[in-house]
Amino acid sequence: MAEVTKLIHRYLRHSKKFPHVYCPGCGHGIVLGSLIRSIHALNLKKDDVVLVAGIGCSGRMAVYVDFNTVHTTHGRALSFATGIKLANPRLKVIAVMGDGDAMSIGGNHLIHAARRNIGVTALILNNGIYGMTGGQSSCTTPQDSFSSTAPFGHMEHDFDLVKLTEACKANFVARTTVMHAKQMDKMLTTAIDQRGFNLVEVMTPCHTQYGRKNGFKTIVDMYKWYQKSAVQYEKYLNLPEEKRQGCFPIGVFSDNDQPGLEERYEELRRSLAGGDDK
Ligand code: SF4
Ligand code: MG
Repeated sequence: MAEVTKLIHRYLRHSKKFPHVYCPGCGHGIVLGSLIRSIHALNLKKDDVVLVAGIGCSGRMAVYVDFNTVHTTHGRALSFATGIKLANPRLKVIAVMGDGDAMSIGGNHLIHAARRNIGVTALILNNGIYGMTGGQSSCTTPQDSFSSTAPFGHMEHDFDLVKLTEACKANFVARTTVMHAKQMDKMLTTAIDQRGFNLVEVMTPCHTQYGRKNGFKTIVDMYKWYQKSAVQYEKYLNLPEEKRQGCFPIGVFSDNDQPGLEERYEELRRSLAGGDDK
């Protein structure tokens, strides 16, 4: 245990930035642990990693980790990440965002970063609500559920991030939950290691802003719900329609090896320079 703590602390600004702000039982710490384990497994130097974050509870990760970090404005993490990757393609660039940050406010940046297949890992923590900013509905808040901006029930359809990024032809598209930490480690290791735009969506509970308004007595009930409702993709495909109700698929949905935008850009630059420019 002491060894694990020592390992985790090596990647954190532990003595400067803690204690953290997360509510007891929040899933964000599980995701942060998985991110650190994945970077450690890939044997990356801390200086070769850039963590870009937007605003919200997930955005705090950029404060806590000891990589190159940029804590940007709400919804803009991917535009900063795109610029960093194009300026220095050698870096491993990871954009950490919440659902409100990545898909509501930053939805257009997400669509175009995925479409360009820029070499960035997008780690999206989807808790179906704006957590830190007041519990407002986001574009992943389930229809008919309650939030601070939907006291009579949320009237809109929610968004499927996996289908959206698949349609944009991102290289890697995967989803898991905080109850599937080993799967999350594997997905993040793959996503960070390979080229192109790589998306990992993690379903994670926010009892403070969502659960307690929607019939979950405790945070433990939320974790149990994720465990019960998440079905591995291959199994999900074989379920009859009526058994899919209330469930959602997890797993790897796309895994391609197309060059990232920065690689195509470099190729063009070299060909315009006559092919002998280093
Ligand atoms: Fe986690 Fe929600 Fe608390 Fe934010 S508000 S730290 S997402 S439980
Ligand atoms: Mg959120």
